[in-house]
Amino acid sequence: MNENIRDMNSDVLVIGGGIAGFGAAVAAARQRLNVYLLEATDKLGGVMAKCPGMPIGDAYPEDKPMGGILEEYLNRLYKRDPPAAEKRKCNLAAFGPEVHYDYATAQLTLFQMVEEAGVNLLINVTAIEPIMGGNKVKGVIYYDRTGGHTIYSKILIDCSGDGDITAKAGVPFEKGDEDTGNMMAVTLTFYMANVDKDRIPDFGDPWNKKIAEKGIKSGRLHKDLHKIYWMPGFHKNSLYFNCVHIINVDGTKPQEVMKASIEAIKRAHQLASFLKEEIPGFENAYIESMGSTVGVRETRRFEGMYKLTEDDIFTGKKFSDGILCCDNAVDIVFRGTNTMRHTSLRKKGVYYQIPYRCLVPKKIENLLFAGRLISADSVAMASMRGMSTCMGLGQAAGIAASMSIINKKQVQKIDCDELIKKLQERGVHGLAGEKL
Ligand SMILES: Cc1cc2nc3c(=O)[nH]c(=O)nc-3n(C[C@H](O)[C@H](O)[C@H](O)COP(=O)(O)OP(=O)(O)OC[C@H]3O[C@@H](n4cnc5c(N)ncnc54)[C@H](O)[C@@H]3O)c2cc1C
Repeated sequence: MNENIRDMNSDVLVIGGGIAGFGAAVAAARQRLNVYLLEATDKLGGVMAKCPGMPIGDAYPEDKPMGGILEEYLNRLYKRDPPAAEKRKCNLAAFGPEVHYDYATAQLTLFQMVEEAGVNLLINVTAIEPIMGGNKVKGVIYYDRTGGHTIYSKILIDCSGDGDITAKAGVPFEKGDEDTGNMMAVTLTFYMANVDKDRIPDFGDPWNKKIAEKGIKSGRLHKDLHKIYWMPGFHKNSLYFNCVHIINVDGTKPQEVMKASIEAIKRAHQLASFLKEEIPGFENAYIESMGSTVGVRETRRFEGMYKLTEDDIFTGKKFSDGILCCDNAVDIVFRGTNTMRHTSLRKKGVYYQIPYRCLVPKKIENLLFAGRLISADSVAMASMRGMSTCMGLGQAAGIAASMSIINKKQVQKIDCDELIKKLQERGVHGLAGEKL
């Protein structure tokens, strides 16, 4: 242990600087609380950082802004000169509009908003162990390059995607599909620049099977490439690829993620070389940026006071403690097999709310979870996992944490009407009977 670093105290400790952790930390810090945000990498955004430029989906349920911190964040990008983001129609019919953006500016804006809110940000630190005291998490032990440290907090919000700390705190969880336990594929995304899109055959087809088949047949592409999913990038003449999938990887196991990342990098280069040599329009193209590692779609889902279900989302269920609205399609990508499932909620004309109780464990009195790890079944999770929803869940958790501290109430017992009122005051739309 490094003796120069003392134990620290915080009001709210957020683990994970992904898109949910960003929302949670900023929301809690704006309540004038002492908030620490711990992030294992050197970037903010989580999957958004690992898959640079991945479009932000589900920001416009029913084509209306979801609101809250997300809207504020997007407006900052839209209003830059020149604009650093653009709302576009998704090229897959099942989904609503999505936001494409300049990656560097999007990163900068995350850091700026965290700094402006007064969050104490610690990057390159990994939370390892909860410090328990009865039905409370008193704090966590985390490591940085100097060694181990402890940080105590009144409330802990786990936004780490995988939930290692919540699992070690004893909250029950499920992983993957209920029948098989299979989790969705992990994916390495990348951009190619200098692409002449007008000359690409069948460019309008977002799932280009013909080119994939040609490459697989000739032995130049891996058989799991299946279909080439691409879309125009934010910048002119750039193309974004979201199709190098590796199946049957457990994202909670670092060695499996590392092996998958190395394999995926090889397959991405293979694909880029094949396109350059064989497909018109790619002659002068090159890989402009690539994820540093594969993006992990799903791992643990924790048991909360309520589990969001497939039935809830397809019937457009609303809840008295609903904290945000969502109409994202169910997006299941290769759960152990080479099949995808995209089921649109928009075509059914429904949107649902996520109740606060999905963020709250049954027993631990000062723990919340937000982001892709909340209490949901595997189908509901495949809809609510979009970036906008995760940021909105983070915001709700941050405000709930502040209410729990200020009103001295367990997280299970906070006044949900007041929480919803606070979210509405912060611009979140479609709550408490208000129509979107
Ligand atoms: C390949 C891929 C494509 C996708 N496509 C889209 C899309 O087009 N549109 C869309 O909206 N969504 C998309 N998604 C889904 C979306 O990106 C994620 O569901 C969402 O970003 C999850 O956010 P999160 O904050 O809950 O978790 P994560 O993004 O996983 O963030 C968790 C953070 O916690 C950190 N962390 C983990 N453990 C610890 C620890 N012990 N200590 C400290 N820090 C820790 C991690 O480093 C990470 O930064 C995609 C996901 C993937 C993987």
